[in-house]
Amino acid sequence: MRLLVVEDDIMIGETLQQALKADGYAVDWTQNGDEAKQALRDSVYDLVLLDIGLPGATGIEILQTLRRMKNDVSVLIITARDSVGDRVAGLDAGADDYLVKPFSLEELEARIRAITRRKAGRSDPVINHGPFVLNPVTKEFSYDGKAEMLSQREFAIMGALLERPGAVLSRAQLEERLYGWNEEVGSNAVEVHIHQLRKRFGKDVIRNIRGIGYTVQKP
Ligand code: CA
Repeated sequence: MRLLVVEDDIMIGETLQQALKADGYAVDWTQNGDEAKQALRDSVYDLVLLDIGLPGATGIEILQTLRRMKNDVSVLIITARDSVGDRVAGLDAGADDYLVKPFSLEELEARIRAITRRKAGRSDPVINHGPFVLNPVTKEFSYDGKAEMLSQREFAIMGALLERPGAVLSRAQLEERLYGWNEEVGSNAVEVHIHQLRKRFGKDVIRNIRGIGYTVQKP
């Protein structure tokens, strides 16, 4: 999953980026509202953590622009503005959730998982699909009832594929979910991970649609 953090407070921004990366997300961070708008035009994100008071465009302006453009990326507002009026205005502008600073990282990560589930139409926090069970909370993964160790990137790839069985994800789409701006992407990095996963779980399970991408089949 690829996240954009829009936050002009350096300490909070750095903390969020480090913590979310450690939790397995690809994270980009910008401190300026206008740059955030540009990033959202240029790249596809799964979720935006959006501060309201920013240099350049405000968080509310960014959110309104996104929704006007029919961009349905998930938005979680993170702000110190805690009045009922502010919260209602943020949610009514199209935010999926609203968290008041200071907040705990644990709660933030739980809310990110909840938004992700709702978006995928799931209420069960654990993803069950055929022989696979993937738990985004504990990072446990099993195949045919047997626990399997996956690297962080393999876990992210399996999560992306199992989140929407039947959808074909291109190499570029998988790369976007795995890496942030400052990380080097080896030209065949995704293929290497996919190759390993297919070797372990079978080529019929993770299918390569030639020239298009990868998919796990619907049950
Ligand atoms: Ca701010």
